[in-house]
Amino acid sequence: MNTDVLVLGAGVTGLTAACLLKRAGLRVEVVEARDRVGGRILTRPSPFGVEPIELGAELVHGFPDEARTWVDPAMDLEVRDGDFLIFEHGQLTSSPDYFMKVSQVLEQLPQELESDLAVREWLSQAEGIISVDTHGVKNWVEGYIQGYHAADLAQMSTEVLGQIERESQEVGAVEGAQFFRGGQGQFVDRLVREFNQPILLNHEVQKVIWSSEGVEVMFKSSQLAPIQARRVVITLPIGVLQNASEKGGVVFHPPLPDRFIRALSYFKMGTALRMNFVFKPAPWSFAPHLPDFGMILDPSPDALFRVWWKRGEHQIVGWNGGPLEIFRQPQSPEVIQELGLKALARLFSIPQDRLQGTLIGFYSQDWKHDPYSRGVYPYVKVGGKSAAQTYATPIEDALYFAGDAECIGAYLGTVNGAIQSGTRVARVIQRESNE
Ligand SMILES: Cc1cc2nc3c(=O)[nH]c(=O)nc-3n(C[C@H](O)[C@H](O)[C@H](O)COP(=O)(O)OP(=O)(O)OC[C@H]3O[C@@H](n4cnc5c(N)ncnc54)[C@H](O)[C@@H]3O)c2cc1C
Repeated sequence: MNTDVLVLGAGVTGLTAACLLKRAGLRVEVVEARDRVGGRILTRPSPFGVEPIELGAELVHGFPDEARTWVDPAMDLEVRDGDFLIFEHGQLTSSPDYFMKVSQVLEQLPQELESDLAVREWLSQAEGIISVDTHGVKNWVEGYIQGYHAADLAQMSTEVLGQIERESQEVGAVEGAQFFRGGQGQFVDRLVREFNQPILLNHEVQKVIWSSEGVEVMFKSSQLAPIQARRVVITLPIGVLQNASEKGGVVFHPPLPDRFIRALSYFKMGTALRMNFVFKPAPWSFAPHLPDFGMILDPSPDALFRVWWKRGEHQIVGWNGGPLEIFRQPQSPEVIQELGLKALARLFSIPQDRLQGTLIGFYSQDWKHDPYSRGVYPYVKVGGKSAAQTYATPIEDALYFAGDAECIGAYLGTVNGAIQSGTRVARVIQRESNE
């Protein structure tokens, strides 16, 4: 054996597991397809001396114990404040009770259903579910769920959404929008420092040959020698695992058990369009009548970007999630930039060419067409409430799947969920290695 444990993927799940396993005295190697670590955390330093540019994870959803361990005192938190604005009837107005109204509806999500149903179906029964007072915000609620969970509401499980919402309230995961001033990349840096061992970059895994005796992992490049390990931790995103025959995908030999394949099929990688603009001066400085704001919602169903949030004094991020028409094929950054500028010009009532003149930076990242992610983060389809349990059950003491899909609850599809999963899998392997 080359090593005790081979970790596939150097995102936060893989790095957390690697650090903890190494601390436990096991020999650990980490392989990664890309030429960088961090996976869906991608923090770029700003060349303009403003806040860092987050192209992947940005919001901090509270601190479960597993994540708190990796927070450095230097990782300064910033809580986003300022008004919440809604764009309606051609203008931006403050809507202080937006979240309260949305929450009132989400609180009515059922704890258990005789048979699970899609969120869209549940919402369509709104007359019975949503009280008359809140009926007017159904459109907001749809936009919120679709945008936040990057999910197709025609497929998303109502039971799981209910569980996420309830647990998020319990642990305070959605309280206030907050982020690290220095970016989520600090988590990755911290883990890499702790691991203190080279990570094998540009190692795209193509085949995993496994048995209860051990595992051999082969790479796409024939220049790279296979690696043998007693156990393998597989942290590849759900979207990659579901596309075994596509670029980035992995073939297992023998094939994975049917129960695992069934569990995997209950997950779906969500899609979202995200872009970051840096302006000097900022567009809102041309609208002195506007209150200081943190977030803007454009609720019209045909808005390409439903949500915008400010990051510092010069940066604004546009976001929309769910099965958008624009995702059908890859779009060039120029097209996305043009569409974003048009949307911002409309929101702030500024001519687009004037806005263009103040633009100093534009960034976007296409996660859906990236073969190593195939989407932004996972959601659970109808009937999939117990899929995570099967997904996280080791196969023959050889294959250990882990990742942000595992935590069905407050931290599904988040950095916290990834850290929890990496911690869980490390503990299991440590225990089994000692037996
Ligand atoms: C746009 C966007 C916004 C987000 N916003 C937030 C947020 O605000 N807050 C939050 O908490 N979370 C957010 N997330 C989710 C968060 O980024 C993820 O939940 C978390 O980073 C997942 O970590 P992971 O290690 O499980 O997976 P990943 O980070 O995806 O790591 C998996 C690794 O496997 C590698 N890999 C893939 N295929 C192969 C192969 N064949 N061989 C070898 N290696 C391979 C990948 O390159 C990757 O490095 C966001 C994600 C995106 C994309």
